[in-house]
Amino acid sequence: MNYCPKCLDTSIRLEDKGVIHFIMNGKHQDTSQLLFSLENDNDKKIPGDFKNKIAEFMKWYSQFKNRSPIASIQVFTNNYYCKNKCAFSANLKFSIVDILIPAKEIVQIIKDTGKEYGIEVTLESEDIIV
Ligand SMILES: [Zn+2]
Repeated sequence: MNYCPKCLDTSIRLEDKGVIHFIMNGKHQDTSQLLFSLENDNDKKIPGDFKNKIAEFMKWYSQFKNRSPIASIQVFTNNYYCKNKCAFSANLKFSIVDILIPAKEIVQIIKDTGKEYGIEVTLESEDIIV
């Protein structure tokens, strides 16, 4: 459940469309983002799109020297609103974990793509930053 940080009510809702951003091991590229849409079952596309974006990141990250294992990720959107019409600063982040993608699926996608690109992954569900 997402509580509004201002009115502390359970009044936070996703916008119908928006952008999901992710930061892995504190790093992100300009391409570390994907669109979401809740219309016409489009949300079913989100895990597949997320996997493609994670693969792009892994490809980039695999070129780093002295890279550390993937140990943390933050997955969030700014495209939320409060039903009580609270105003937020534009850079306030709301987690989409277990809302648009289950935590377990995020971990599995990262482990699978890490293996593909030869990158060690120690990330578990509890390492997802909310
Ligand atoms: Zn509110």
